[in-house]
Amino acid sequence: MKMNIPYGRQNIDQKDIDMVVKTLQSDFLTQGPVVKSFEDKFSEYVGCKYSIAVSNATAGLHLAVLALGLKPGDRVITTPITFAASANCIRYAGGEVWFADIDPDTYLLSFEETRKLIESKPKGFFKGIIPVDFAGLPVNLENFRKLALEHDLWIIEDACHAPGGYFADSNNIKQMSGNSNYADIGIFSFHPVKHIACGEGGMITTNNEDLYKKLLLLRTHGITKENMSENHGGWYYEMQELGFNYRLTDIQSSLGITQLAKNATGVAKRNTIAKRYRQAFENKIKFQSLPQNRYNAHHLFVIESDNRKELYDYLRENGIYAQIHYIPIHTLPYYRKIGYKEADLKNSENYYSRCLSLPMYPTLTDEEQDFVISKVLDFINE
Ligand SMILES: *Cc1c(COP(=O)(O)O)cnc(C)c1O
Repeated sequence: MKMNIPYGRQNIDQKDIDMVVKTLQSDFLTQGPVVKSFEDKFSEYVGCKYSIAVSNATAGLHLAVLALGLKPGDRVITTPITFAASANCIRYAGGEVWFADIDPDTYLLSFEETRKLIESKPKGFFKGIIPVDFAGLPVNLENFRKLALEHDLWIIEDACHAPGGYFADSNNIKQMSGNSNYADIGIFSFHPVKHIACGEGGMITTNNEDLYKKLLLLRTHGITKENMSENHGGWYYEMQELGFNYRLTDIQSSLGITQLAKNATGVAKRNTIAKRYRQAFENKIKFQSLPQNRYNAHHLFVIESDNRKELYDYLRENGIYAQIHYIPIHTLPYYRKIGYKEADLKNSENYYSRCLSLPMYPTLTDEEQDFVISKVLDFINE
């Protein structure tokens, strides 16, 4: 039997389909009531005050840096081991991307390396930090917030991998990814490879009312009917800022609502799968470590191998489509062209030469996972 096991897969059921059909039969395909309903449910789920649905997470990151006032030449720190959009948003606003290395065990932006980088420069040199909950493992944002307070920096938590994940802070309070208690803004993606599939889609979360208002304005052309300087009549609106059309539709939001409703179950299943991988690989294969007091939402399950390319090819021959997350951003041709060099970020480059993401999604069956595990173990025992 030929297997066909991808590394990730969306989970669409009849409830999702019914909800979308209901919206298609309603008066609004976009800019109707479902968007706000999705936003409210999302706020409740992650525990933040405000959620702003956007067309995708990249648009969300773009609006986030603009709302925080990023100007051309401003410097922002992020990790090289993330999807390119985490850094590209800084470039959209004309800012400079500075990379700090990752921790070799959690694969997250290293707090120590970030601190060293910040302290090696005069105060005011950097404007913000974009930590990423890589693979679904939440960053300890309490530490980053202390650092940010000392150096007057903002924080955007790229939580695209981590809806449903959390870390426990020093008071042992669970801090859900993207709740914005320690970050200024959180960002989520609803691309089908992520936990919640909307086709395309994203969410910005914040607890700050001023940021919320700015984000709403920027999402829809900078146009508003509120707080206007003059009012000429019912038709009148003002374009107060140069904004965008980064809206999510009601069609997508209706899918988001039913997808969100089963996210907690999906994350629990992902953790069951992760536990089985860990048990099978313990003391044989290195995998992403799980620090105490954190709940990994497991967008990915990442292992390391000395012969990564051979393992990748071997799994493919067996119908297992593992993936590599990610090529370090500073080595991508665009970033090379604007002056970034290899060999600056040793842990990230070493990680990239060894990493492999194994199949991880709620509908992965035990039989399929056992097949994946047996093939990985066959390979290392060869
Ligand atoms: C997927 C992803 C994004 C971008 O999400 P889109 O919705 O596709 O724009 C940003 N950051 C990270 C870490 C991601 O994984």
